[in-house]
Amino acid sequence: FDQRDGFIWLDGKIVPWREAQLHVLSHGLHYGSTVFEGERAYGGAIFKSTEHSARLRRSAEILDFVVPYSVADLDAAKALVLEKNGMKDAYVRPVAWRGSEMMAVAAQHNTIHVAIGAWEWPSMFDMAAKMKGIRLDIAEYRRPDPRTAPVLSKAAGLYMICTISKHRAERNGCADALMLDWQGRVAECTGANVFFTRDGQVHTPIADCFLDGITRQTVIGLARARGLEVVERRVMPEELASFDECFLTGTAAEVTPVSQIGPHAFTPGTITRTLIEDFHAAVRPGASKAAA
Ligand code: PMP
Repeated sequence: FDQRDGFIWLDGKIVPWREAQLHVLSHGLHYGSTVFEGERAYGGAIFKSTEHSARLRRSAEILDFVVPYSVADLDAAKALVLEKNGMKDAYVRPVAWRGSEMMAVAAQHNTIHVAIGAWEWPSMFDMAAKMKGIRLDIAEYRRPDPRTAPVLSKAAGLYMICTISKHRAERNGCADALMLDWQGRVAECTGANVFFTRDGQVHTPIADCFLDGITRQTVIGLARARGLEVVERRVMPEELASFDECFLTGTAAEVTPVSQIGPHAFTPGTITRTLIEDFHAAVRPGASKAAA
């Protein structure tokens, strides 16, 4: 990924892609003092750019550091990255980390660095292929207790268990892993939130120990705008057999139907299809304000 043509924004400047480097003795690398974002641009406009910039700053504050750029600065920097790379439909990746002055657990005064990259990551528009759904494994690791980890930060360190779980799922022939939370309730996937339907209602776990995704919030708004009842509640794995449809939401995943979780089969249906269509309409440039 590091040997490409193109441009990356690094600490306030646009630099050639290959030159966007950090020192190996960086606190963010050794101690996980790193936060990041994942965003998508559609037709040149980043969907909910400001919400993502605000979340990056909030994630950092939870890890006890301050991103040295305002939300407006970050929004402008992301737009510049897209412009310099000539990209209109892209995945955008801001990342912020503690630098290298102190190489110890305590590093109160280390410089905070920020970089923004962008690359092409097409969204899947083939509805027929998409509606076949993906298979999920059930992860061995659980989302941690909020008392043991900064769970509401999009912190790089929280992704260790996601990578391990996703690798294992892929080895088992699945596309992703469903993770339970520390209390054994259904939580989310390794990089996306999860929804279920039953009797025309939409059910999703309460986001109290994992990321309350920006796509999750958008899709809840879209479902309610359709008159669907959305229930945020504790979802137990024993209930999986009772649901009709299941889908994931996330910046990268958008709205992705699920056909199987472990032994449980689901049939992607009308609600999933409607929300895929409504989401695609909402992310079109100029439409994002209409999305709740
Ligand atoms: N949970 C996890 C663990 C994620 O990595 C993501 C992707 N950022 C999400 C949920 C969905 O968040 P969003 O809709 O804001 O992309």
